[in-house]
Amino acid sequence: MQFESSRRFAESLDIDDPLKIFRSYFYLPKDDKGNELIYFTGNSLGLQPKSTFDFINQELLDWEKYGVEGHFHAKNPWLPYHEFLTKSMSEVVGAKPIEVVVMNTLSVNLHLMMVSFYRPTSKKYKIMIEGDAFPSDKYAVQSQLRFHGFDPNEGLIELQPREGEVLLRQEDILESIDRHGEELALVMIGNSNYYTGQAFDMKSIAAHGHKHGAHVGFDCAHGAGNLLLNLHDSNVDFAVWCTYKYLNSGPGSLGGVFVHERHSQKKDIPRFEGWWGHNKETRFKMRDDFEPIPGVEAWQLSNPPILSMAAIMSSLQIFAEAKIEKLRVKSIKLSSYLEFLINEIGDESIKIITPSDPNKRGSQLSIQMKNADKKLFDWLTKKGVVADWREPDVIRVAPVPLYNSYVDVYQFVSLLKEGLKSNLE
Ligand SMILES: *Cc1c(COP(=O)(O)O)cnc(C)c1O
Repeated sequence: MQFESSRRFAESLDIDDPLKIFRSYFYLPKDDKGNELIYFTGNSLGLQPKSTFDFINQELLDWEKYGVEGHFHAKNPWLPYHEFLTKSMSEVVGAKPIEVVVMNTLSVNLHLMMVSFYRPTSKKYKIMIEGDAFPSDKYAVQSQLRFHGFDPNEGLIELQPREGEVLLRQEDILESIDRHGEELALVMIGNSNYYTGQAFDMKSIAAHGHKHGAHVGFDCAHGAGNLLLNLHDSNVDFAVWCTYKYLNSGPGSLGGVFVHERHSQKKDIPRFEGWWGHNKETRFKMRDDFEPIPGVEAWQLSNPPILSMAAIMSSLQIFAEAKIEKLRVKSIKLSSYLEFLINEIGDESIKIITPSDPNKRGSQLSIQMKNADKKLFDWLTKKGVVADWREPDVIRVAPVPLYNSYVDVYQFVSLLKEGLKSNLE
């Protein structure tokens, strides 16, 4: 499609947007004077759906009315509550229901997955991650290496871009897997990368890792609710994600876990176990030996926090209504429009480092500032833009298809242009 740089054109895109209704499902943050801010940090904390209040309130009322009997008699009984999230969550990430569960939080789940899928031997013990992996992921894999008696300096392989480049090339990742194949126990990559916004082809990475007998897992914190992950078909062993970014389920809300179906019937898989992973029929007899529920539910440890799950249920209902495939179509168009407008400015002090191929990115564009100058970012913040600054030199902007509009994008770039033209001090 031929884009134009005018407010009228942006307005016409909004009018024709088949998903425009969904903006009204969310609370948009406002400034002190009551003006709506331009919210581009849905990749960090997604906005609150208006329906979430009622979903949480329902559980408070049922707790008030039933006490412990709410486990059976609440409108949404608490005992099987997590199961109510499974179908819609599995659709969002492209998996089978037996492969998806909501539990714990991301970094915790990453460790639980590594208990099962990082099984090093003295010869085959290395973990491969991206060079600029999210700090928590790096701490997690380093501490796993140490836990198993290895030196992270030796055991961690960090993928680096080529000299003078910012992005990793897919062929270099595959080549690196081949080169380290014999010593490689686990490949664990963020999809998409939190800093550059680069998305990777999980299927070919998984196939390469598996060829060398390594397990392959993905951190999809920035992919869930954003990309079409097709986790089942990608054939990765496991994936973890959080629900407070693109999945709009509130600060610190629970995470999601995927374990591929081919691991679902294994009885001897090493795992940390707890009562919520035990056969539901006999869970409360509390006398039997651990008998895992088939599938990823076996990894559950505790009975889960219902209030947090209520917020996830509220959000997933919106995803079920909007459909992730349609959101992805709008996301591509929205980011492409943003990219077009930024390139129109033609200013040398800013550069988009996110891939321009829509298949290699989601809703986020990362704009690199020349000389790591943060003044423009601070000025944009004063003008009502909520974006974020990531050290050393990047402004991340994430137009989210559920609640951002083409006019948001247009207004943001108008401000960016004004800021670049002014002599900011
Ligand atoms: C957001 C994010 C996290 C956060 O982990 P929590 O355990 O939820 O605090 C971890 N890894 C990546 C890649 C992230 O983007």
